[in-house]
Amino acid sequence: MNEILQQRIKSIHMGKDLTYIKKVAERSLREQLEIDMAEFLACGGTVKEIPKGQSSVSTKGWNGSEKSKAQQTMRQVMSNSISEANARRENPNVIARNKALMNGEKRFSGATCSKCGGVSRYTSTNSCVACDKASSALNHKKRMGVNA
Ligand SMILES: [Zn+2]
Repeated sequence: MNEILQQRIKSIHMGKDLTYIKKVAERSLREQLEIDMAEFLACGGTVKEIPKGQSSVSTKGWNGSEKSKAQQTMRQVMSNSISEANARRENPNVIARNKALMNGEKRFSGATCSKCGGVSRYTSTNSCVACDKASSALNHKKRMGVNA
């Protein structure tokens, strides 16, 4: 009984030692990586930054054949949505609306309306002021006509 207990204690100690050894190895690896990086930069090496949403992971399969995998598809979807979001952020109408939101303005000059050609829009809903007013007037008329 006592032997079993001692064996257990011994194995726990060994496990702790193993964890400690692993941690030391990890730390030295990290230090080595930092030293290598410093050397690389000292020798005139440069770090090339990859734009957001892109990956350096190879998309080629065996013998350079095209491989289509779920991960690849997902990566493409993500990349597209990121570039779409970036394009939206640079859209002058979006910039104007955000500026109006920040200043607490109720209206702003945005995209030209496809129905009436006006540029005045509500900051909160992004809808055309003239069309919104015409629509609500029409609805009011309808309501009153039905109720009367
Ligand atoms: Zn309109």
